[in-house]
Amino acid sequence: MASGEFILGIDLGTTNSLVGVVDSGFPILLADAEGSRSTPSAVAYGRDGTMAVGAAALRQRALDPARTVTSVKRLIGRRPGEGEWQPPYDLRALGVTPVEVSAEILKHLRAVAERAMEGPISRAVITVPAFFNDAQRNATKRAGELAGLSVERILAEPTAAALAYGLDKLEEHRKIAVFDLGGGTFDVSILEMRDGVFQVLATAGDTQLGGDDIDRLLARHVWESSPLGKETWFEQLPAEARVRLVAAAEEAKKKLSTDTHASIELPFLWQGQSLGVDLPRGVLEQIAAPWAERARQHCWRALTDARVKPGDLDEVLLVGGSTRMPLVRRIAQDIFGREPNVSQNPDEAIARGAVIQAGMLSGALRQVVLLDVTPLSLGIETFGGLMNVIIPRNTTIPGKAGEMFTNAVANQDSMLVRVLQGERELAKDNWELGRVDVPFPPGPKGSARVGVQFAIDANGILQVLARDTATNHDVVLEIQNTAIDVDDAKVEAMIAESVEHAFEDMNERIWTEAKLKAEELLPAVEEALAQLGAEVDPTEAARIRACAARVASLLQSERHDARALKEANAALDDATQSLAVLLMDKAMEEALTRKGLV
Ligand code: ADP
Ligand code: MG
Repeated sequence: MASGEFILGIDLGTTNSLVGVVDSGFPILLADAEGSRSTPSAVAYGRDGTMAVGAAALRQRALDPARTVTSVKRLIGRRPGEGEWQPPYDLRALGVTPVEVSAEILKHLRAVAERAMEGPISRAVITVPAFFNDAQRNATKRAGELAGLSVERILAEPTAAALAYGLDKLEEHRKIAVFDLGGGTFDVSILEMRDGVFQVLATAGDTQLGGDDIDRLLARHVWESSPLGKETWFEQLPAEARVRLVAAAEEAKKKLSTDTHASIELPFLWQGQSLGVDLPRGVLEQIAAPWAERARQHCWRALTDARVKPGDLDEVLLVGGSTRMPLVRRIAQDIFGREPNVSQNPDEAIARGAVIQAGMLSGALRQVVLLDVTPLSLGIETFGGLMNVIIPRNTTIPGKAGEMFTNAVANQDSMLVRVLQGERELAKDNWELGRVDVPFPPGPKGSARVGVQFAIDANGILQVLARDTATNHDVVLEIQNTAIDVDDAKVEAMIAESVEHAFEDMNERIWTEAKLKAEELLPAVEEALAQLGAEVDPTEAARIRACAARVASLLQSERHDARALKEANAALDDATQSLAVLLMDKAMEEALTRKGLV
């Protein structure tokens, strides 16, 4: 796949942003030159006109906080002054808009992807919170376009999370909750599967509730409980010291998600003095408990708005980096009364979902239709152009079935196996999936024995094996597309057609079968009469001839009267009963004579 055909999946987060792509059928997240798969959503505008994005921008923040833009997602698509959040910078002073800042982050992500995929990429799917209104979605789209990306889809974050968890295979009307606690915001959404896509039934949250708050609360606590804190308030610290302390608090917080103890060591933090504290998890949880509790009321609100009880949910997904905190997991479990699903990496789930959506749009990720039944019958063409079903429609797969076939004509040296799919009685009305010639040694009619076996695997791939049982010579034909190329509409049309044509189809099948039988019967009767001649009672011979003539005339007729031909065949069969006995006796006599027994 050329890089130009890729569609990027982007999680443009408040705190962190990620980018990925489906490569060789696998959704992957892409790392930057430093090996990091997550880019801080920060842009620093230097006084000298330089610009830094990501980790480099955060390094500048300590030096010049007013020129480092973070959490711009809280501002995008809002009118100036709208919303409660007051940023520690002034975009007007910097001369940029939220859309432009977001575009810088997206440009950076695009460059990360182009470097990794070694070529230009110009299309993307970008996620936004479920609560984003039209203005916010459009602003995000404009940011993408400003970054040189054609935005193929704006995807709701909880939907992306559900995709990452593979829940797009969920049955109709199943409901899930997505609990997303990131760096700056908390979102909870209740989704329902309807007509194969997730509908957001309700969403609630808090744009002022995130992991950042804990970092600040913890930093203040650490400062105030240290000897240094006795002299100066946390807020009075110079920006640089405060930024270092908050960063150290965040590190300690993360460590306490897995460990029960962490420590903070900051040499020469303030006025040449160092800070060192030991931090047990219990302290963090004490500080964070009221903060985490604030999530509870939002969850209840979303459940109430959606008219869903916790017990109605099939899954509760935890996403966002802050859901790594054991305290947060306990609270989520308590609210929803069930063990949340945390099998996916919470910082990457949304990006992964965006990548999956992008892969579906580009065709790089085939929507794997896991068929549990065959949508249409599979079979082969038999004598007279009829469909001989080997695996009927709606058979559960994987499965196997087979049948034995023989040669219809003497001295035939091969048999053409035409593999067909469809519900019609005549081969020509069904779809041909493939054909294969099975050779066998020539012999009298009916002497060949060709076994045909159909094996269909869980992916809907059909393998046809044809074996000449006399020589054990196998011919194998693999058909890839029994399921995938047949879409629902085509299947429905085929079934509708088979119903519509049921009568004529059935008549045609009976006719063909009767015709084959008549063609076999007539020469045999002719030969028997010639052989036995005088031994047959003249009236009986006349009756047989009359029956044979009727069969012959029906066979000639244009009308294809299947029922009449079938009855005529039966009458002829009946009339030749004693002829057959005579014939048998004669054959027996001849055999005995040959062996000198009579
Ligand atoms: P956003 O959606 O806001 O961009 P993320 O989902 O990336 O945010 O979450 C970022 C937040 O997750 C930060 O506050 C970070 O400190 C927090 N976080 C990341 N890893 C951990 C961890 N191991 N334990 C606790 N919090 C974490
Ligand atoms: Mg997020």
